[in-house]
Amino acid sequence: MTVYLVGAGPGDPGLLTRRAAALLARADVVLHDRLVSPAILDLVPPSATLIDVGKDPDAPDGGPARQEEIARLLVEHGRDTAVVVRLKGGDPFVFGRGGEEIDVLAREGIPWEVVPGITSAFGVPAAAGIPVTQRGLASSVTVVTGRVGEPGTEGAPDWEALARAGGTLVVLMGVTTRGAIAEALLRGGRSTDTPVAVIQRGTTPAQRVARTTLGGLAEIDVGPPAVIVVGPVAALGAEEPSGRTAGPLAGRTVVVTRSVHRARGLLDGLERAGATTIELPLTRQVDPADGGTALRAAAATVRAQRWVVLTSVNAVDRFMAELRDARALGPVLVAAVGPATADALRMGGVEPDLVPAEHSARGLVDAFPAPDGPDRGVLFPCAAGAPGTIAEGLAEKGWDVRRVEAYRTVPLSAPEPEVLARVAAADALALTATSSVEAFVALRTPEGAPVPAPAHVVCIGPTTAAAARSAGLRGVHEAWGASADGIVAELVDHFGPGPAGGS
Ligand code: SAH
Repeated sequence: MTVYLVGAGPGDPGLLTRRAAALLARADVVLHDRLVSPAILDLVPPSATLIDVGKDPDAPDGGPARQEEIARLLVEHGRDTAVVVRLKGGDPFVFGRGGEEIDVLAREGIPWEVVPGITSAFGVPAAAGIPVTQRGLASSVTVVTGRVGEPGTEGAPDWEALARAGGTLVVLMGVTTRGAIAEALLRGGRSTDTPVAVIQRGTTPAQRVARTTLGGLAEIDVGPPAVIVVGPVAALGAEEPSGRTAGPLAGRTVVVTRSVHRARGLLDGLERAGATTIELPLTRQVDPADGGTALRAAAATVRAQRWVVLTSVNAVDRFMAELRDARALGPVLVAAVGPATADALRMGGVEPDLVPAEHSARGLVDAFPAPDGPDRGVLFPCAAGAPGTIAEGLAEKGWDVRRVEAYRTVPLSAPEPEVLARVAAADALALTATSSVEAFVALRTPEGAPVPAPAHVVCIGPTTAAAARSAGLRGVHEAWGASADGIVAELVDHFGPGPAGGS
């Protein structure tokens, strides 16, 4: 029954505070702005309700009705939901209307807590290597909204006074008004050759840094959201974040498709090998169509089965959540398709009785014993639409397979065009599930064309590889083992010890 006003930071999930990550992991309801990146929303457990309260970009001020609606939702959920997270880009109190939302909660007697975030005003320039203050260059920094209007008009800063004050200016929400801002600052006495940096989508895979001067600011091609830095420090910093130069995959860019907080191990492994990674969140796991009723019932009566067969980490998570306690399994045997699924079981205190040497649905069916008595029940909690290999193969062996929908995989909204362009230019694509294959080939550019896949595609196992080939992808290879390490090993083998000198 507490509303947590949480700052999500500028975009990179690695820039969340530990408190923010902990709250997201146990949130029941998350009300988020449009600015919050998909990679962060992925940290929300599938059981939580995500509500996009993103402001309408075309309405002045996001639409006043919108803010009232947000207040209403906060109060409604704050009254009867345990953990409500109001997630805002950057810091909740920097141009985030966080103060107004707190007022509403306080008035309604709903407990609240603010979790600060790294504001884009400082975090985005920093990540681009631009120090907002520097000895001898800037002894002050002012964060300002990009509104323009007559001086003294409500909400509009006094640009000419800001110009006279000197120091670094960091302008938020100023992309569309940048021409007028430049004019006002020039009128206030700043010179036309004052350095300006515009950092678009800072700390995300789509980050772009444009350099200009006050004289050129109106002309450059940039889009929101962006932070505009004005002052001598804007000439500092790298053009692009410097590439990695060590490790067998140095200079290689690998696209990792992800479905909910499952890719960390793979990203870490690739980064340790020196690769630059692009996270492409394509899918998200949600409750099964029946809300989980069938899975709950199956878990409650699991002892009537001889085996439980699990073929994904998500299925393990969902099944174990319904089981509540590993001891409920009693003598029931457990099979896992591969090492990742087996590890997820071990995390829940269950040592699998069978992990096939070949980590695939076919391998599991082949390694599975035949029934040795009247007990022929196999429970198979799986994704909606999972291929029939397991259920049919085990039935052929004489088992009585009960297939239960444990979750559904649904596509996320399309990534930014800048991300799609980087994906097409990457060296390799890693696919870890057939649902990711489907989501990848369904991607379209803003012009409606399919997104070209990188020339090398590595799939976690034969099922995913077969799906990738039949979806028309070229250059499809199988990982050396059904795990993050197996994917990295295949890529290291393929690309060898990186191009000379790295990137
Ligand atoms: N509370 C937020 C700011 C909200 S106002 C914070 O503390 O960061 C929204 C503005 O923030 C955008 O118009 C843009 O100027 C800036 N912004 C937010 N995230 C950004 C990002 N990743 N890259 C560049 N600018 C960003």
